[in-house]
Amino acid sequence: MRIIRSVSEMNLCARRWHTGGRRTGLVPTMGALHAGHHGLLDLARPRCDMLVASLFVNPTQFDSNADLERYPRAFEADAKACQAAGVDVLFAPPASEMYPPGFTTWVDVPEIGARYEGEARPGHFRGVCTVVLKLFEITQPGFAVFGHKDAQQLALIRRMVRDLGLPVRIVAAPTVREADGLAVSSRNRFLSPQQRARAPVLYRALQRAAQLRARGERSSARLRQAMRKPLQEIADLEIDYADVVDPERFQPVEEAPPGALLIVAARLGRVRLIDNLTLSQESAAADPRAGGGGEGRRSIGPR
Ligand code: AMP
Repeated sequence: MRIIRSVSEMNLCARRWHTGGRRTGLVPTMGALHAGHHGLLDLARPRCDMLVASLFVNPTQFDSNADLERYPRAFEADAKACQAAGVDVLFAPPASEMYPPGFTTWVDVPEIGARYEGEARPGHFRGVCTVVLKLFEITQPGFAVFGHKDAQQLALIRRMVRDLGLPVRIVAAPTVREADGLAVSSRNRFLSPQQRARAPVLYRALQRAAQLRARGERSSARLRQAMRKPLQEIADLEIDYADVVDPERFQPVEEAPPGALLIVAARLGRVRLIDNLTLSQESAAADPRAGGGGEGRRSIGPR
């Protein structure tokens, strides 16, 4: 595995592969790799000739310096994990390579990025879209893999690719969860043991609403209520949002068709957690108008 830190070197390498007819897969990450990232790498590996993992803690997607500084970094362990996952190139540029002095061009997808995570973290999605577009330009991938865990980010990137006509296919990887349902996240390490024990309530809230939907309840107001109830019972937890949205436009819906997305965000102490669940087969079974869908489920198991 090669480690490349320079943008021009990475780009030269990617163009050579492209000219040589090799298919490149890209897995963008901010490092501190965990089972969720491994799921992305495992999905990408068999689909490409050359696998690039990028490791860049993107400063422009953080709305506070404290959060950026607090973000976990584990380069040595990440490099080892990438090598074990069959990565060909680990692209880990310094911020000065990605944002040279005088950098002033931004990509924004305001319709999808305005609410929810966009509202809670001003400027976050502008930073995400800009860095992802740059990564696509630099690494020239045929496809790139993103986690369904960050469903709004996924919707935004899909729209950016469509609007700008970028020649890259976006592949969604299912959310990897701990055995108790908590979505794996680099933020989980900041939970105290008590908070960690309470954190699976986000997934339970999503499941509760999905079960209600499966019994035929289509009203988003009632599904929201079903999500909020278990969350409200947890001490030290502050709900940021619990809603039902169209998964492509990320706009709230009044009624929940199969394929609609349940989304939730909450703060446990200082740690902000997000999760989501696609209304799929179970709700489809109870709904004669249904088509089905969903992103599947993946839990941590032996690798
Ligand atoms: P990050 O390093 O947090 O920016 O995440 C890099 C990629 O990993 C993003 O596409 C995330 O959606 C994805 N990811 C993070 N956690 C998970 C998870 N638990 N399951 C699946 N994908 C994930």
